[in-house]
Amino acid sequence: MTKLLNGNQVAMKIRKEISNEIVKKIVNKKQRVPHLGIILVGENHSSRIYVNSKIQECKKIGMQSTLIHLHKNIEEKKILEIINNMNNNPMIDGFIIQLPIEKHLNQEKIISSINPKKDVDGFHPENFGKISLKNTKSFFPATALGIITLLERNNINIHGKHTVIIGRSRIVGLPTSLLMSRKATFGNSTVTIAHSYTKDLSFYTKHADIIIIAVGIPNFLKGKMIKKGVILVDVGINNIHNSKKLLGDIDFDSVNGIASYISPVPGGVGPMTRVMLLKNTLHAALHYRIK
Ligand code: NDP
Repeated sequence: MTKLLNGNQVAMKIRKEISNEIVKKIVNKKQRVPHLGIILVGENHSSRIYVNSKIQECKKIGMQSTLIHLHKNIEEKKILEIINNMNNNPMIDGFIIQLPIEKHLNQEKIISSINPKKDVDGFHPENFGKISLKNTKSFFPATALGIITLLERNNINIHGKHTVIIGRSRIVGLPTSLLMSRKATFGNSTVTIAHSYTKDLSFYTKHADIIIIAVGIPNFLKGKMIKKGVILVDVGINNIHNSKKLLGDIDFDSVNGIASYISPVPGGVGPMTRVMLLKNTLHAALHYRIK
């Protein structure tokens, strides 16, 4: 029987821990609650759903949030001004720009203009670089942190295990590969990164102890591509024909009974990602708040 890596359950526990920490370290000291800023550009349907759920998550644990929703044709200069204001606003502890952003905007330039101490998505080059160092004070991208925390809280040993990560995006695959392979208490995995140029993907997946997949193709990984007992983490969120049904990147039915564990979609990595954003925001409030 394949067991589920239940992200909802783990996220609920972590939410409670964060909530307790807010009370103990902030509210009881008569300080203001952590405040997350969210910049959303345009009307992308999925982005709006993600942003709404982030706002709801803040409410659940007593964090403040502010949404700045901008028109899809906004000029880059104007966004940089808004970011500069948020960087200097002592009432905002951390903020994010919901990705992807409109094509006419230079994503790298915009991300690089965020103050690294408020970059709770962990995408600023300074924070990204620190992932490979043992720097626990920086921000790790929420999905990558969510994935390793999901494994850690399920007592899955990753030391010396062969992890195949399918997908190398800066949001998921790449930072996850760095966290999994770090020389750290929870790390030391031997990582192979696969992508769209990888030849004979099954060769790698059949030799994997752990597979983390983030390609954005529904039911991509099949039972015939894996070995018995493998641990599967499905990051994919594929909205089928804009219906309410979400599919992961793993063909659940065909791996069921072969894999030892699988993170379901929905209810696996998604809730972990959202709660890790809260964790990063709390981190910003505790360590970097502008006095
Ligand atoms: P990207 O499109 O940025 O990256 C996809 C990656 O998959 C690329 O590295 C690409 O390779 C690789 N890829 C595409 N086709 C193949 C193939 N046939 N074989 C092997 N590799 C392939 O996507 P994201 O990383 O942003 O997102 C991936 C999925 O994860 C999406 O479904 C997204 O919705 C979901 N997601 C879920 C989150 C959550 O919290 N659960 C958070 C973020 C994303 P190449 O680099 O060569 O193009």
